[in-house]
Amino acid sequence: MAHSPDPLPLAQALIRCPSVTPADGGAQDVLADVLARLGFTVTRLRFGAVENLYARIGTGGPHLCFAGHTDVVPPGDGAWRFDPFAATVQDGVLYGRGACDMKGAIAAFVAAAEAHLADGAAAGSLSLLITGDEEGEAVDGTARVLEWMRAAGEVPDFCLVGEPTNPARLGEVVKIGRRGSLNARIRIEGTQGHTAYPQRADNPVHRLVAALAALTALPLDAGSAWFEPSTLQITSVDVGNPASNVIPAAAGARLNIRFNDRHSGESLTEWLRAALARFAPRAELAVSVSGESFLTSPGAAVARLCAAIEAETGIAPRLDTGGGTSDARFITRLCPVAEFGLVGSSMHQVDERVPVAELRALARIYRGVIGAFLAAEAGR
Ligand SMILES: [Zn+2]
Repeated sequence: MAHSPDPLPLAQALIRCPSVTPADGGAQDVLADVLARLGFTVTRLRFGAVENLYARIGTGGPHLCFAGHTDVVPPGDGAWRFDPFAATVQDGVLYGRGACDMKGAIAAFVAAAEAHLADGAAAGSLSLLITGDEEGEAVDGTARVLEWMRAAGEVPDFCLVGEPTNPARLGEVVKIGRRGSLNARIRIEGTQGHTAYPQRADNPVHRLVAALAALTALPLDAGSAWFEPSTLQITSVDVGNPASNVIPAAAGARLNIRFNDRHSGESLTEWLRAALARFAPRAELAVSVSGESFLTSPGAAVARLCAAIEAETGIAPRLDTGGGTSDARFITRLCPVAEFGLVGSSMHQVDERVPVAELRALARIYRGVIGAFLAAEAGR
């Protein structure tokens, strides 16, 4: 008879810690205590103001890692039905900030690990990489923990990230990659002058408009095997000129590109530079790449993950690479990574919530993933 611990109490305990990035609110203490009691060796990793944690049980391979974050976004200005940090259960639904993104998934994985350990299965290792800085800058979070893991020789065979990947129903979507994201700031200097004497001026707004038109005229690509087409969105055009008879001295704009595996931050920066040079040789371009695109080729490990999901939900999940960035963009540099968690329809919203039955179903899925992964890798 399989032992099945309930993820609900830990999910509630975590939600009751007000861990709005970068605050920890005691969340990592709660988690560390539970993991230590289960026999995990817990290493607390504080970088800057951010609490992170790495916990492992077992010494040999195969090694399956679960990654997630205990920080949450603020409750926001809207009126909540219940206190966002009270973890109220009403009619079988757990309400609270972090319920689906992603304290619920952490609790589900811990319950799954507990069930696995109670079964006496000895092979392999399980670990958790938990950061307190995913929703913020993500500078002192997962990226730093991964540096530490690499230096310590902690390299998992596979990592499962518990982000809420499902749009509406548990089991719909596994993410095997993510698009990259690039922000650019453009500034074009011209020569200020009177609108009645444009021949004595050099209008930077005209140059900017022409450059932006060129950047948006054609699609960046038509997509690739696992990715949708890349997109470019102009997010701001800034001139701030209060006068109607003055050609301004400078004009600026900002844009964001979500890109697939046909581009890199570097290739897009070159493309932007070349396009700007055609219309404004004096343009300044400042680029920041918040994440490169990546893809985990769907192989045996992803197939096992999908099989465990289908066994519980009856749904064969779709492999997807859409949405925003996540910490998987860092983890992919250390080991293969895929993402599967709860239904994300209420994430970052007022009344964030998860049905308790769904939380328990996710724990059973994770239990299946652990069993399948450790058994399959051990027997290869
Ligand atoms: Zn999240």
